[in-house]
Order: sequence, then C-alpha cells, then structure tokens
Amino acid sequence: MPGLPSAPAPLTDPFGRGISYLRVSVTDRCDLRCVYCMAEDMTFLPKREILSLEEIDRLCGAFIALGTDKIRLTGGEPLVRKGVMTLVRSLGARIGAGGLRELTLTTNGTQLAKMADDLFAAGVRRINVSLDTLDPGAFAAMTRWGKIDQVLDGIFAAKAAGLAIKINAVALKGVNEDEFDRMVAWCGEHGFDLCLIETMPMGEISQDRTDQYLPLSLVRSRLRRTWTLTDTDYATGGPARYVTVQETGRRIGFITPMTHNFCESCNRVRLTCTGTLFMCLGQDDAAEFRELLRDPSVDDAALAQAIRDAIARKPKGHDFVIDRRRKSPAVARHMSMTGG
Ligand code: SAM
Ligand code: SF4
Repeated sequence: MPGLPSAPAPLTDPFGRGISYLRVSVTDRCDLRCVYCMAEDMTFLPKREILSLEEIDRLCGAFIALGTDKIRLTGGEPLVRKGVMTLVRSLGARIGAGGLRELTLTTNGTQLAKMADDLFAAGVRRINVSLDTLDPGAFAAMTRWGKIDQVLDGIFAAKAAGLAIKINAVALKGVNEDEFDRMVAWCGEHGFDLCLIETMPMGEISQDRTDQYLPLSLVRSRLRRTWTLTDTDYATGGPARYVTVQETGRRIGFITPMTHNFCESCNRVRLTCTGTLFMCLGQDDAAEFRELLRDPSVDDAALAQAIRDAIARKPKGHDFVIDRRRKSPAVARHMSMTGG
C-alpha cells in the first residue's frame, strides 16, 4: 500500500542463505603477537583509515535494520580499542525484539579482569576467550610476550561477572598438541566449553605453516582414548561441529576449515576495522563502506542498498589450501584484519 513503510526484506544471499550474523573487527591492534596470527613486527594502520566507533555503530545499526540479530566484536584485540565500551553499550541497547538477539565478543582475555562487569552490564552474556595452552611457558612462547596469569585472572573475572565462556584453542603441531586432555579436564572443572581450531593460512607470519598444521581429526581420535565423546547436533550457526564429553558434561567444538566444508550453512559476513566487508573469510572479494560512511550525501537508505548489493555478491564457499609448494598463505590478509 503506498505511503505505508514496509518491513525490510531480510538479507538473503544468491544461494538462499539468510545472513543474520555480523562479525566486526574493531581494531587491527593487539597487545599480544600470537605466532600463527601476527608477525612480531606488525605495522598497524594509521588512525584515519580506521572506522570511528560512531561509524561502526552506524553501520551495525544498518545491518540490524536489515535483520542482523547477532554481532560479534573481534579484532585484533577488541578490548584494547580506546573507548570500545561506548560501542558495546550502544549495541547492547539494541538487544531485544526487532533488534539484536545476541551481542558477543572474541577476546584474548588480557583486559577482562577490569572490563568483565561492564560487559555484562551492557548486555553481553557469552564470550569466547582465546587460550591455546595452560602452560605458562608455552603461553609466553605462543603469544610471544603474554602472561598467562593475566588471562586466567580475566577468565575467572568473566565467570564471576556471570558471562558464559567458551575457550578457543588453535591446534598447533608440536606446540600444544599434548595439552588437549588437560584443557578438556580444566574446562570441565570450571564449566567452560572448548573449541579447537585448525590453523588457517591467512597472512604472512614469518613461519612455515605446513609445519604448524595439525588436523583435528587426529586430535579427536587421541581425545577418544581418554574421554567418551558423543556427537551432537548442537549448532551455533557457525562452522564448529560439537561433541559432548560424557565425563564432564561440557561440549567440545571442532572448527576444521581445512578438512571440512562448512560453507553451505554460512550465515555470516565480516567487517574489518577499515570498513571493508568480506562476504567470505576465504575469498578476497569485498565491499568498501568507509567512504560511504564518510560521504554526507549517503543516507541510511543508500547505506542499506550498499549492504544488499554486497550480500548479493557472497560467494558459494571458500577454498583454503596450505600451498605446500609455495608455502604462501591462501589469503593474504591477516586474521587480525578480518577478525577470527
Ligand atoms: N584477539 C582476539 C583473540 O585472540 O581472541 C580476537 C581476534 S583473534 C584474530 C580471533 C581468533 O582467531 C582467535 O581465537 C585466534 O586464535 C584465531 N586465529 C588467529 N589466527 C589464526 C589462524 N591463522 N588460524 C586459525 N585461527 C586463527
Ligand atoms: Fe592478538 Fe588475538 Fe591475534 Fe593473538 S590471535 S595476536 S590475541 S589478535
């Protein structure tokens, strides 16, 4: 009927997948230098290239108006971005009917001891914390200069604040491969889920990735020697396949981009801190939003159309391969650009 505003059609890509999940990298900076993620001497982006918190908030609002109901903040380390709580509070205020179902974040945990209560107050209820090992020496080696106690304090502060916690651990051959039994037990003891991640070939990191790659099929079969693992159809809409650990009652997720194809159920797109929207983690095609956000002639309707146009270009799937001949990454950008 003319004159009556109609509800926007939800975002659907050319393959019929509903796109309702936006991951937002709020910074490319980090206080750690995990060996699989960053080079030691990273050059970070100049401030003018980074979206302001207001620009991120506006773009998220445009996605929410188009049916996005889950936003995950990531990075770099999202909690080291100055003023990030302003954004978290603004997005948290959009939780509820017709808005967000969930606001969450992925963090390395170093800032949680001081920020966990504020995150809960802003409406965050679940977080992913990256912790690849429980061994202080191995942690220092994997993060190049991290202190595990700072992260453990953060994790327990988050638990005390009422946040549900999932521990993310990247599986690395010869580095933490003997630790997973201990991590399963530790997560069981403290009531955390665990998600194991295969390394993905993203960005130059000054190391040979074919040496680091540890297939999770192997990790899973080793875990079965100690634990009774039952397949579940529990799904978060993400790429993880979950099992339940009978002895602890907790779940373990396996994210296997290299050995499994999880693209058919993909419901997400990723925004970098410079305003580039990647429609697929494993492909280079992208849509640029920074100049649109800074152009006063681009109103909310034009912004919404730009988002629809981008989603219309979402590819069917990715093609991650660690190139054993060239030993070069399949995707040139670092995970800290796109957000894990
Ligand atoms: N700094 C935060 C953290 O570490 O949780 C958020 C950003 S980090 C890029 C997000 C996730 O990506 C982390 O769990 C990290 O372990 C993972 N990650 C980084 N580089 C990766 C790679 N090359 N392959 C697989 N996972 C990676
Ligand atoms: Fe920083 Fe997270 Fe990358 Fe580690 S994985 S260097 S904590 S962004």
